[in-house]
Amino acid sequence: MIKIEIKEEIFAANDQVASRNLDLLNGMGIFSINIMASPGAGKTSLIEATVKNLAAEFRLAVIDGDIATSLDAERAEKAGALSVQINTGGQCHLDAGMIQAALAALPLNQVDLLIVENVGNLVCPASFKLGTHKNILVASIPEGDDKPHKYPGMYQGTDILIINKIDLLPYIPFRMEFFQAGVQALNPGVRTFPLSCLKKDGLESWIAWLKDEIKLAKTKKGA
Ligand code: MG
Ligand code: ZN
Repeated sequence: MIKIEIKEEIFAANDQVASRNLDLLNGMGIFSINIMASPGAGKTSLIEATVKNLAAEFRLAVIDGDIATSLDAERAEKAGALSVQINTGGQCHLDAGMIQAALAALPLNQVDLLIVENVGNLVCPASFKLGTHKNILVASIPEGDDKPHKYPGMYQGTDILIINKIDLLPYIPFRMEFFQAGVQALNPGVRTFPLSCLKKDGLESWIAWLKDEIKLAKTKKGA
């Protein structure tokens, strides 16, 4: 009997394309992030706020992944970024091949920061490498404090944690200690930015971190 481990083959093929994407971005000196979250956590609002804060100083591109519509790419473009919309036609995550196609459609010599907005989903996006430099997970207060406990893969696989909608803390029974205990068990010491995109509160340290990374990527260009 011949058995094929489909899952491993898919991941291996995806990883190969992801590493080519990363080589391309490194060669151009572009810093890139992969933003993941459940639907409604505020990925697009974070992207809008980020683009508005950086557009005067840097050239930005956004690759937006959604099952349908181009609403989010339109918002990114309106905020001041180049944008590419990927409609996955039902697939619940982006993969490296989709990013490869989107990169080919962008004028990369005019880009300093590439932001990828993954499909809203707390399960599989963390399993598919895209070739971006850092994974960013956006949690939000209304989702509840149990999410790290229930979706460990996403919390383990992230480089940065953003806690959005902190302005709602007085109105929602969210136990920050319980949430943080889950995070620390899975991803000890993960860099965390609590903020509110709506109230424009706490964005400064996130923006400062991005600026440092963009500048660092430029100095390493082609290395
Ligand atoms: Mg969105
Ligand atoms: Zn998926």
